[in-house]
Amino acid sequence: MSEDQLAQLSQLISDAQNIIITCHTSPDGDAIGSSLGWAEYLRSQGKEPVVIVPDQYPDFLRWLPNTEKIIRYDKHTEKADMLFKIADLIFCLDYNTPSRVEEMQSALVESPAQRVLIDHHPNPDVPAVLTLSCPEASSTSELIFSIVWQLGGFEQQDKHFATPVYCGMMTDTGGFTFNSTRPEIFFIISQLLTKGINKDKIYRNVYNNYSEDRLRLMGYVMYQKLVTDPARHASYFTLTKKDMRDFHFIKGDAEGIVNLPLQIKGQKLSVSLREDTEKENVIWVSLRSVDDFPCNKMAAEFFNGGGHLNASGGRLYCSMAEAEAIVKKAFLAYEDLLKKS
Ligand code: 5GP
Ligand code: MN
Repeated sequence: MSEDQLAQLSQLISDAQNIIITCHTSPDGDAIGSSLGWAEYLRSQGKEPVVIVPDQYPDFLRWLPNTEKIIRYDKHTEKADMLFKIADLIFCLDYNTPSRVEEMQSALVESPAQRVLIDHHPNPDVPAVLTLSCPEASSTSELIFSIVWQLGGFEQQDKHFATPVYCGMMTDTGGFTFNSTRPEIFFIISQLLTKGINKDKIYRNVYNNYSEDRLRLMGYVMYQKLVTDPARHASYFTLTKKDMRDFHFIKGDAEGIVNLPLQIKGQKLSVSLREDTEKENVIWVSLRSVDDFPCNKMAAEFFNGGGHLNASGGRLYCSMAEAEAIVKKAFLAYEDLLKKS
């Protein structure tokens, strides 16, 4: 961040009375981690921010400090709408366009508040007085650390800041296994550890905190549902309402399954197709890739979505059979890149 941006940010914070922090729909570890970390920093500056998220976040993040203060827009719409009306500053964290907050979009864009975007997705497009976009960053949580560090606020932080920030960096890099080779990341981790966080426990809290059903669902999906395309080093699997019912699916249970097929030697791309648990003909798509395969381009072109080079998402409004046909078409369209070694 430039000196000018820092000065503008400090001024916006000190002038603000009613601050809201928002993140994208179906919040992940980075969305929640960066929001909680930023809220903690703002509290250390004497502010009382509220974190409003569009909908439910996964159960495996519930242990994070201060999640009980988070307001869900879908559950407490009236209260949240009132807060948006009286807000004077809104932070938009971990999303690049207002449509990513879905049902919360009109409250966000119609609020009289000034908006500040802090994000690491490419092509930022949120109307804001200050846009802090850094696609090179591993995560928005990393950006939160850097901003607080640059503002000179890190020293006074404790575990309540360090834990969510570490958690967000960890989850957006798959436990520091992708998108995490920049040396700064390990400098940041070393600093966060000085706040007494237990990084091994954070890992277990996130990754080893599922139900037995979820582990069995993973086994079932890999054994029965994975469709591989060996010639194109790609694969996909489907997760239907019935599958989810059979394994007593709860929010977050699908997280990470899409990474598993990338364990196959030479695999470049993995796609998951998951039916919405309620709505008909809504399929949630997740894409993961390795090296330079641009799954965000594929997500934009075929799945009404976007995201990062190696981790993207989107949605389809059709039946599962039609969705599978679209995936096969996408694999064919990207055949040259997929076959490239
Ligand atoms: P996931 O597969 O975990 O849902 O999403 C992977 C990544 O893609 C996340 O960083 C998420 O923010 C991003 N993503 C998911 N859906 C969309 C979308 O519709 N548009 C954009 N721009 N990014 C998305
Ligand atoms: Mn993120």
